[in-house]
Amino acid sequence: MKKNNSFTKDLSAQQRIEIDACTQCGECLKCCPVQEVTGKPKISPPEKMRMFREFIKATDGMKSRLFGQSEIDKELLEDFTKAVYECTVCGACGEACTVGIHTQRLWPMLRREMVKRGLGPLGVQTKMQEVITNTGNPYNKPASERFSPWFPAHVSVEEKAEIAYYAGCTGVYEAQPMVKGDVLILGASGVPFTMLPPEDEVCCGFPLFITGQHDMLEGLVKRLVDAYAVRGVKTLVCSCPCCVNIMARDWPAFYGKELPFKIRHISQFTIDALNSGALRFKRELNERLIYHDPCYLSRGVGVIEEPRSVLRSIPGVELVEFERHGMDSRCCGSGGAARKVFHDNAIAMGRLAIDEAVAKKADRLILACPACYAKVNEAMSDHDKKIKITDIMELAAEMIDCGER
Ligand code: SF4
Ligand code: SF4
Repeated sequence: MKKNNSFTKDLSAQQRIEIDACTQCGECLKCCPVQEVTGKPKISPPEKMRMFREFIKATDGMKSRLFGQSEIDKELLEDFTKAVYECTVCGACGEACTVGIHTQRLWPMLRREMVKRGLGPLGVQTKMQEVITNTGNPYNKPASERFSPWFPAHVSVEEKAEIAYYAGCTGVYEAQPMVKGDVLILGASGVPFTMLPPEDEVCCGFPLFITGQHDMLEGLVKRLVDAYAVRGVKTLVCSCPCCVNIMARDWPAFYGKELPFKIRHISQFTIDALNSGALRFKRELNERLIYHDPCYLSRGVGVIEEPRSVLRSIPGVELVEFERHGMDSRCCGSGGAARKVFHDNAIAMGRLAIDEAVAKKADRLILACPACYAKVNEAMSDHDKKIKITDIMELAAEMIDCGER
């Protein structure tokens, strides 16, 4: 470990206090989904806090100030790095925390500390910056395939409009029924909307932010915000919870000032359109639905009621809840950019959601996140329990009868 390698200088005062404040009570262990499927003690929030305190002690403690910083055990650094990247950054531990530690914000900052030391990120995450620079998305897919395979031909997109729609990389490349549903709903509402051309709708920055790789963020955010501003956008609508999360919470900081438009989740746009009469469900659905709250939508930005209101507005629908829902929901395993590195964990967590939905005798599992959509569908193949999985906007578009699907 090099000298002057403080582990706290880039953390906020609140985060330094939070690391100190953990009482090691273990209350959060009861709700950690990674802990539940792996049983590994090193992954637990109190153990991660304890390890990070060791780093602080070595680089920022009284002894280090008097006698210089001491070496940190390499194995401890590697154990911590693995633990902080195996976490799905779902934030459930923060919701349960007895001293109110905001873990959904803290863990990515601790990941950034490991990136600075060349220890993180892990696996395919290490290629993200290069891939996004080359293609504009973290999936290494050509921009020419961003909209063309799924965009409904009858929906028109304006050059300029007060509403803009950002589709997002995971939706367009891994969960096309979801983004197609979004566009069908926007089109059916009759509200003019604009979009950036596929080569300009680059990554929102969330995968880089959540894995602690912050160098490119300012550039990506400025490029996107300025492109929407010249189109006269006043409201940016998006369905991906990860995109909405970074847009609402972090874009202003990377942009350097307040955004020139509001951020709305597609469920917020949809419930407004249903309430105003711009949209109306024409079909009945006599089914028992169970809705899974995406972690970055519920705990991330507090969008909990709007998706439920959309579903309850469909005639005939009975809505049931997971034992843990809303602010307490259990991660389906796809968060924190961990799903492609810790695949088996993600599959096991996805199956917990499937099993509970089946046990609750739901006819359909409703998701609202492209990462959940891709991974939970994957988790169901080769699983003994089966349930129909549908994205919320895919279902809404079907019930509104938006024409071509
Ligand atoms: S954020 Fe989620 S996965 Fe990570 S430690 Fe907390 S509860 Fe576990
Ligand atoms: S609940 Fe909070 S204080 Fe208790 S161990 Fe977990 S993180 Fe630490």
